[in-house]
Amino acid sequence: PKYVYEFAEGNKDLKELLGGKGANLAEMTNLGLPVPPGFTITTDVCRHYLDHGRMPEGLDAEIEQKLRALEARMGKKLGDAQDPLLVSVRSGARYSMPGMMETVLNIGLNDDSVHGLAAQAADERFAWDSYRRLVQMFGKTVLDIDGDSFEDAIEEVKRVKGVTNDLDLDAADFQRLVAAFKEIVAQRTGRPFPDDPREQLDLAIRAVFESWNTPRAALYRRQERIPASAGTAVNVCSMVFGNLGMDSGTGVAFTRDPASGQQGVYGDYLQNAQGEDVVAGIRNTVALSELERIDKGSYDELMSIMAKLENHYRDLCDIEFTIERGKLWMLQTRVGKRTAAAAFRIADQLVDQGMITLGEAVTRVTGDQLAQLMFPRFDESAERRRIGRGMNASPGAAVGRAVFDSDTAIKWARGGENVVLCRRETTPDDLEGMLSAAGVLTSRGGKTSHAAVVARGMGKTCVCGAEELDIDIKNRRMVAPGGEVVHEGDVVSIDGTSGEVYLGEVPVVASPVVRYFEGAIDPASNEADDLVRAVHRIMRFVDAARRLDVRANADTAEDAARARRMGAQGIGLCRTEHMFLGDRRQLVEQLILADTDDEQQEALAALLPPQRDDFVSIFESMDGLPVTVRLLDPPLHEFLPDFTDLSVRVALSESRGEEHENDLRLLRAVSKLHEQNPMLGLRGVRLGILVPGLFTMQVRAVAQAAAERIRQGGDPRPEIMIPLVGTVQELEIIREDSTRVLREVEEEYGVRLDFPIGTMIELPRAALTAGQIAESAEFFSFGTNDLTQTVWGFSRDDVEASFFSAYLEKGVFGVSPFETLDMDGVGRLVSIAVEEGRAARPDVKLGICGEHGGDPASVHFFHSVGLDYTSCSPFRVPVARLEAGRAAA
Ligand code: ADP
Ligand code: MG
Ligand code: MG
Repeated sequence: PKYVYEFAEGNKDLKELLGGKGANLAEMTNLGLPVPPGFTITTDVCRHYLDHGRMPEGLDAEIEQKLRALEARMGKKLGDAQDPLLVSVRSGARYSMPGMMETVLNIGLNDDSVHGLAAQAADERFAWDSYRRLVQMFGKTVLDIDGDSFEDAIEEVKRVKGVTNDLDLDAADFQRLVAAFKEIVAQRTGRPFPDDPREQLDLAIRAVFESWNTPRAALYRRQERIPASAGTAVNVCSMVFGNLGMDSGTGVAFTRDPASGQQGVYGDYLQNAQGEDVVAGIRNTVALSELERIDKGSYDELMSIMAKLENHYRDLCDIEFTIERGKLWMLQTRVGKRTAAAAFRIADQLVDQGMITLGEAVTRVTGDQLAQLMFPRFDESAERRRIGRGMNASPGAAVGRAVFDSDTAIKWARGGENVVLCRRETTPDDLEGMLSAAGVLTSRGGKTSHAAVVARGMGKTCVCGAEELDIDIKNRRMVAPGGEVVHEGDVVSIDGTSGEVYLGEVPVVASPVVRYFEGAIDPASNEADDLVRAVHRIMRFVDAARRLDVRANADTAEDAARARRMGAQGIGLCRTEHMFLGDRRQLVEQLILADTDDEQQEALAALLPPQRDDFVSIFESMDGLPVTVRLLDPPLHEFLPDFTDLSVRVALSESRGEEHENDLRLLRAVSKLHEQNPMLGLRGVRLGILVPGLFTMQVRAVAQAAAERIRQGGDPRPEIMIPLVGTVQELEIIREDSTRVLREVEEEYGVRLDFPIGTMIELPRAALTAGQIAESAEFFSFGTNDLTQTVWGFSRDDVEASFFSAYLEKGVFGVSPFETLDMDGVGRLVSIAVEEGRAARPDVKLGICGEHGGDPASVHFFHSVGLDYTSCSPFRVPVARLEAGRAAA
């Protein structure tokens, strides 16, 4: 096998083998761009090394041969005392990964070759600076010595000399530093700094491979589901020097603005600098456009290379380059990261420029990016005072009074205040406080912290880990690095999309993209900016391309109308529970308290007309489109007063000698209905079977509403859905009753009512017996929330706040199974049910109505198992449309 590829032997499609950096260095080399020559050791070698604890047979000879060839080409020998070849050793996996070993520059320097370098460059200072950088980087990354010891040594030299800037150090200072650094190495490792160039090279290569398994890298892979077997490549690249004086330098560049997507010259440049100096912020960089003035020749060449790269990759590229005494060198390129808005704009521009097709454009944007564009945002033109920044844990823009504990959050929110809950970190005790807050801000913890996980689950705006803000719970205040003090009750604004924290109220505006989706902005009008036009063009394409229909979960006529404007093709889940709330609660109480059949019938009869009216208006909003009505699902006690409240009330009336017969009866009913685990208790179809007349009343309300709509000339398309079915027998009982009711209503109104009756698949048993269930169900709708709970055996309300952040932290899941469908477990049941359901009833209609219905990765899964539609909240409908189109494209 071949273990080592010269840059000229690879290409951009060999990322698995050569890593991203290596594959792109190869591509640039073959495009004829000025890349310092070098070679890449493959990821195969990494796998072998990690599996066997040693390098594969024959690797050494191959490296030796490639090194010889490189030396011949450069006319220099690695580490030669007269004219040394120096190289960098750079890690480069398929995906870049935090925790992986960084680059070591200037390999090949030692006490002899440093003189050769100095003589060749006619620059002593440069040579000793390069040498100390080698010992420093090598010590830190290969020998695992903490970087502070080196930094301290530099500070000490500066202090003695009375200077503050690295540029004020001369050759002798750096020479002293080399000696000090080597002393540190010897002390910490018990061995002298290796001065054999080839040994330096081998140790660095090994260190890159070993860094693949650092705990940080391993954790990152587990969370991102990057296979541990992928391995990293190593790039050995001949050095070029940006630190050879003011006619040298190093920089980064983008072919378009990664923030806005606009075309132009974007990047930073730093004269007389090497490697990481640009990003490390040690000295002030200048804008890339300045390079035109500093070195016009190199600037023009860079511009033409950037145009060439963009044409070649047909996408935004980011670039690292170095100029050595007026000669430009390309050190890295890749298709660059960008913001959500830039992604849409760039895809659209590239179509306009004829570089990509619309079909390719949809692969360049994601549902997550679209979702980001849909959150309300702070008005960009408004004044604002930034006081800090943290991680963008859960998107959105929240404004409210700062509170520092959950009790205050709850109390103030009840009083109608918007609050932002500010905590060092949150715990399960903060759950209710978080729920009542407009947003959550913490000073500790990352994206898998409790605050972040729970806020995302709630869809609540959250900024976490804003370490620079000193949140002082005891004194109920927060101190910003700029000295601003936020006391309890002061207004703050937090941006969960960017992580910024502002003092005072920043006005919030609706996203133009949402206004477009709602029909408030005509994409052909002047009001539409280039972003709206880009979104419009892409949405038109995906709507034509997708196979999955997209419906919405909506319970009211207003939601239904909104969903329809967002492009929903019907309602996949219309919950009926809210039809039992408000004033109607009393009727439910009557129903539960009824002693006789007659009383029960009376209560049900009273519930029917208001429900019918609800359905009439929903069917009107969704005229001509399907509306899946789910019969009552939650346990009945949810409609009754709280046990403790009621007990207190009874005790009070008793002590006052007041009449309390009704409350007493209620109390008895409440305690009778009490369940240890209501999620697994008397609910759904079980209730339908136990409380005679409940489901038939609901079916009658649906049927009468449909009949009325038909009389009004409408086109109602209801579908009756039975929740929590575990066996076909349950379904048959309800089905029989329902069909009878439909016939009665047909007779009563003199219209034909022919609509499907189906079931939710939300229990493992239902999925496993889907073949039997399909004999009685005209459609299935996968209730993936309950299915996830029952497959994993945990209740969402309890576990998300207790152990999910620990699980995410430890990488047990990369993402909560309530966010993205657990394809291996829950998904497997879905596949089984699809297959067996279709085998039993080929035309069975299949949909999904859990919250996963609007999650990008889950939508791809639903497409691939062959569902007919996905259903999600109205706001997620555009995201689901886009992802369904991307899945089909
Ligand atoms: P990262 O993956 O962190 O970008 P790189 O391997 O690209 O790491 O290297 C870090 C820095 O060192 C970059 O700024 C790069 O330009 C510089 N560098 C790497 N190899 C060389 C080289 N052969 N000559 C000059 N500079 C180099
Ligand atoms: Mg780089
Ligand atoms: Mg359910």
